[in-house]
Amino acid sequence: MPKRREDCLFCQIAREGAYVHKGKGFVAINDINPKAPVHVLVIPEDHVDTFRDVGEFDAKESKRMLEFIAETAEKVGLTDYRVLVNVGPTAGQTVFHLHWHILGGTGSAEVPSIVATAEAEA
Ligand code: 5GP
Ligand code: ZN
Repeated sequence: MPKRREDCLFCQIAREGAYVHKGKGFVAINDINPKAPVHVLVIPEDHVDTFRDVGEFDAKESKRMLEFIAETAEKVGLTDYRVLVNVGPTAGQTVFHLHWHILGGTGSAEVPSIVATAEAEA
């Protein structure tokens, strides 16, 4: 079972952030630098570095995580949206605590990709 870390930004935000949604073991926050009209991050309270380590969550938690993502999208008023995880720096991951991007609110299929974030910030 993954544990929280003192030196991790998203561990800290999961403890004391301004949530748009909170459930057992998971929080959702607005992205500080939104790439779509609605851009929410779903963050597990327990720390794993990347999606590669998702197996550290047990089956129940993994199911809850997926359900929480869907619940969060509904809660922020989205029916159509994109769910995205950047895995590793060359794929755009900049924060090394697993998080799921929910992007939507454009009213069209043109929800922007954020895969290029790491390059843009390099
Ligand atoms: P990644 O690039 O790792 O897939 O996503 C990290 C996301 O976290 C980025 O979209 C970035 O804008 C967001 N972010 C980074 N620092 C903060 C912060 O302090 N607060 C919030 N709300 N979002 C952050
Ligand atoms: Zn963390």
